[in-house]
Amino acid sequence: ERPSSASPPESGAGTSSATSDNVKVVIRIRPARPEEEAAGSACVQQRSGQVLEADGPGHERRRRDELHYDAVLGADAAQDDVFQLVGLPVVEHCMSGLNASIFAYGQTGSGKTHTMTGMLSNADQRGLAPRIFDALFARIAQEETRLGREKLRYSVRCTYLEIYREELTDLLRPAGPPLALRLDAARGAFVDGLEERDIFNSDDAMALIRCGSEHRRSAATAMNADSSRSHAVLACQVESMRREDSGLASVRSSRLYLVDLAGSERVRASGAGGAQLRETCAINSSLTTLGRVIAELVEAQRRGAAARHHVPYRDSRLTFLLQDCLGGNARTVIVAAVSPAAEHAGETRSTLEFAARAKCIRNRAVVNRDTRGSADALRGQLACLERELELAR
Ligand code: ADP
Ligand code: MG
Repeated sequence: ERPSSASPPESGAGTSSATSDNVKVVIRIRPARPEEEAAGSACVQQRSGQVLEADGPGHERRRRDELHYDAVLGADAAQDDVFQLVGLPVVEHCMSGLNASIFAYGQTGSGKTHTMTGMLSNADQRGLAPRIFDALFARIAQEETRLGREKLRYSVRCTYLEIYREELTDLLRPAGPPLALRLDAARGAFVDGLEERDIFNSDDAMALIRCGSEHRRSAATAMNADSSRSHAVLACQVESMRREDSGLASVRSSRLYLVDLAGSERVRASGAGGAQLRETCAINSSLTTLGRVIAELVEAQRRGAAARHHVPYRDSRLTFLLQDCLGGNARTVIVAAVSPAAEHAGETRSTLEFAARAKCIRNRAVVNRDTRGSADALRGQLACLERELELAR
């Protein structure tokens, strides 16, 4: 079992296969709707590829700040621009055995689902997930052809789940067995009982995304809830098995998480009390904990290696499951989606501040080799050792 405390990274450390890397934060400003445009000036504006200008806290127009991020995408950014910037690097991580994750954060209606999934029926409007799978299978075909399938073979397996009020639902099999969150030395955090689907091409991936999205909508309707209050987690395990001339087979595996978070809007002091308030807290518990995890990680890094810091990964399902993506073994990108509408100035500001904090998290991604002690890999190693023994005689 891994500790739930963060060990701050050694400065300048890194072996050939480990890289210490900050969480990347990309801001995407959605286009203003006609009525929003008519209602007043935008609360946030892109200034350059990395800079935006936003109303100050409390919607102070006269105190507009310039804020810097890894990237800023304006209203004119196409789905493909987001893919080139955020999706393509993730595909290369999957090919080389690095874990990766993309989180979409922001208030309801700011463009999270548009960014992560998009409109599946319209090629131009498809979001990150379908584009990532297209590119992944194209790269797999390219690599397998280059080396020959007897030398190199990839496999891809996916799961798709939803977290709503701290309950887990399998989006591929909503009426399936109950799901349990577990921690395992070899696998890390995982959900037991979740349907795992083998995916062989981008059509399979598209069918899986479509199936998950439809179940997310219908599950929300059945519970008389709003899908904007649930977190959707599409996970994908990419494994490659490479047979060397020596007969040694090596396995690399990477895990990719695509996370469409619940709307980040604050619980307003709108007279909600008692049962209603408790419900609101349950709905937001994963998101609140995500904020606390990030705050603790940033604090741990500020204080340096001397202090071991408690990071409350265990306090929510979301952070427990995704602990590797936050301060652990993964390359992580957060896409913070914001609305430019004057009426959303407060939420936009709070998303921008969350994004600024997240930028400080350092992760350490390593190339995952032989993680599951694959039988093939072990047979390969055995053959290799036998040959060495033969030579030694
Ligand atoms: P969220 O998932 O954050 O609640 P959605 O992704 O559903 O928000 O977006 C709300 C609406 O705004 C949808 O109709 C979506 O198509 C539209 N929208 C969001 N972002 C963009 C964008 N960048 N370009 C065009 N339309 C967008
Ligand atoms: Mg959504």
